[in-house]
Amino acid sequence: MGAFRTGLLPHVRLSDAQFRSRHQALRLILWMQIPILATVGVLNDPFGQEAVHHATWALPVMGIAHMACAIGSLFVRSRRAGSFLVSLGLLLSAALLVSLGGGRTELHFAFFLTVGLISLYQDWLPLALSVALVVGHHLLVGHVASALLYSDPPSTVRFIQYALIHGGFVLGGCAVQIVYWRFTEQAQNESARIRAEAEQALRRSAERYEALVQDSSDVTVVVGGDGLVLSVSAAMERVLGHRPDDLVDTDYNQLIHPGDVARLRSALGDGREEHRTEVRVRHADGDWRWHEMALRDMTGHTAVSGWVINHRDVTERRLAQDRLAYEASHDALTGLANRAELLRALEREGAAAVSGNTGMAVLYLDLDRFKQVNDMYGHEAGDVLLASVARSLHRCVLGSDTVGRLGGDEFAVVLSQIAEPDDAVTVATRILAELSLPVDVDGVRIVPGASIGIALSTPGHRADDLLRRADTAMYHAKRDRSGWRAYVEGMHDPSTPTATLEDDLRGAVADGRLRLVYQPVLSLITGEVTAVEALVRWDHPDHGLLLPDAFVPLAEQSGLIESIGEWVLTEACREMRAWPGVRLSVNLSPRQLDTPESADRLLAVLARTGFDPGDLTVEIAESACIDAPEMVERLAELREEGVRIALDDFGTGHSSLRHLTRLPVDMLKLDQCFVSELNGTQAGSAVAEAVIRLGRILELETVAEGVETAAQAAELTLLGCRSGQGHLYAHPMAATPLAEFLRAHHVAAKMS
Ligand code: C2E
Ligand code: MG
Ligand code: MG
Repeated sequence: MGAFRTGLLPHVRLSDAQFRSRHQALRLILWMQIPILATVGVLNDPFGQEAVHHATWALPVMGIAHMACAIGSLFVRSRRAGSFLVSLGLLLSAALLVSLGGGRTELHFAFFLTVGLISLYQDWLPLALSVALVVGHHLLVGHVASALLYSDPPSTVRFIQYALIHGGFVLGGCAVQIVYWRFTEQAQNESARIRAEAEQALRRSAERYEALVQDSSDVTVVVGGDGLVLSVSAAMERVLGHRPDDLVDTDYNQLIHPGDVARLRSALGDGREEHRTEVRVRHADGDWRWHEMALRDMTGHTAVSGWVINHRDVTERRLAQDRLAYEASHDALTGLANRAELLRALEREGAAAVSGNTGMAVLYLDLDRFKQVNDMYGHEAGDVLLASVARSLHRCVLGSDTVGRLGGDEFAVVLSQIAEPDDAVTVATRILAELSLPVDVDGVRIVPGASIGIALSTPGHRADDLLRRADTAMYHAKRDRSGWRAYVEGMHDPSTPTATLEDDLRGAVADGRLRLVYQPVLSLITGEVTAVEALVRWDHPDHGLLLPDAFVPLAEQSGLIESIGEWVLTEACREMRAWPGVRLSVNLSPRQLDTPESADRLLAVLARTGFDPGDLTVEIAESACIDAPEMVERLAELREEGVRIALDDFGTGHSSLRHLTRLPVDMLKLDQCFVSELNGTQAGSAVAEAVIRLGRILELETVAEGVETAAQAAELTLLGCRSGQGHLYAHPMAATPLAEFLRAHHVAAKMS
């Protein structure tokens, strides 16, 4: 029985609502039976029939029972009792119908119809009642009043048989119903299970999503098309310290660093659906944090209608990257740019200068006394000095310039966007002034001192070429202790093999490729030409006309300077012989006074060319005379013959005043760097004034070099300088134009 109940009987009860609606319908049908049965009864008049008159009690009993069920069903509350009464009433209706219809066989179908109706209760009790009632009714009524059941009453054996057959069919109908319920129930169970599983999966995935969004270190923000925040995940508070609710309906851009807003906007506006970018986002504590963002356009999705932005804090990674990049591009000791970074800056600024049509220069700086500092005070002191130099360099340049350390005691400065080449010179002299101040290194005062080479950018030159040029110029500045030198085309690079250039130069002397130009020296008072200075040029087959800076140092190194110097003196004397009233100045290299016969050889040239020694001035760099007593002797020999001696580039060397009084000198040539500093201020004229005053005290003539403007000439005159040369009056020129110039400037009158 238990197996029957669990295996076969339905397990699912109708819901109350289902039961109620079916019960009401069946009750209605039950009530509708009353008029139907009355009508059938009136039409058939069973009481009038002979066959049934001996069982007239049966019909009223059944009718009353039927009515009792119909009325009772209106009052009972319990489902079981209600369904029982209605089912019983319906079965009695079928029985009444058969009886009132005279027991016609077709009317027996009413029982099957009733079983169908009763099965709507989906309950075994009404069905069991059907079977029991049909069998019981057929047995009882068949026995006591068979005319009420069968139109053709059967024999006793037969009516029992009929009762069982009818009951069997009803039972079969019930069984079919039960099987049907079972199948429907299984199907329902299956779909309920599938639905439950689907619901559970959905719930789990929602939970997972929730957990992901809420607990992840990624912040999810949904931003509407108008830029207002629509929703923010809880991670916002943990990651950026803002309470999500505080952000809703605010402008999302307020969270973004102003420098990154435009980038974010342009990313959103380029029509793509997905973006990745890195921007700085404001933390509640006011700091900016780097966030990697994944943005997805879901403005078209009605459920979202905005941009879904996922951000993740990548500040640590960015800082590490920045630190690595910084270390890869900076010098650890000084924090300055390293060589690689400097070359990059050079390339960048070079390109910017070309496109912006401005100038760019690089200064190459080498400390003068670094090795001694290292040797005397140790490497730590050396490091302190380098760090101090780095700070000094920063003080001398603009923020847009790049200062770098190339290694050892070599530094470089990239000057971006300089208006004119002189700006580079200004910076170089400023740096030299700064580095001439003593630095306190562990209690010892050290003057770093430096030499600077300047190279100006020219379009099309590579960064490393430019740096090499500045290096070359620095080498020259260091060699002739001039503080700074600007690179000139063809300047000899000490690091490149000199053999070919030296061979070329040797050939030049032999092949007559050297040229002479002359620059007039004028009286600043009368404007008359008083002298000319011979300046050598080399007409190089590949490099064109080279200036002395490019080959004189090489000639000095290789010893060729002696033959070059002799050629210059010979040629100058020969050409200037025609202008006896004009003094001739010739530059001498210290190497030309090397040997005891030097003076004799020079005097022999004068004799050979018939040039009056009294009309010749030899110029020798101030720096060359300092430590060479023999040289002083040879200059004295020349002077005895009437040749006048000039100290060239005066002011840039390091001669002491005491030393100066012992030198056989007639003239000081004020170096052009001091002339260029004249600008009407006391500071600008300080050195020029000192040199001119010194000249006057020592009774030496002072000639200003490199006079370029009338203002400089006026100031020099005011300071007491009487002679000058420079582009203001005349550029160096060949002999023929010089003759024109001399004629025009009335020196003819002096000719005898
Ligand atoms: P220096 O003797 O001081 O010659 C003056 C330099 O100033 C010349 O350069 C001349 O062209 C340049 N100069 C003249 N006026 C101006 C001006 O107004 N502005 C500017 N910026 N520069 C001006 P240069 O001819 O290139 O000669 C450079 C140096 O080469 C000379 O300096 C001298 O030391 C040396 N040098 C020239 N010729 C000879 C030579 O025959 N033998 C030797 N040993 N050295 C020579
Ligand atoms: Mg000179
Ligand atoms: Mg000079």
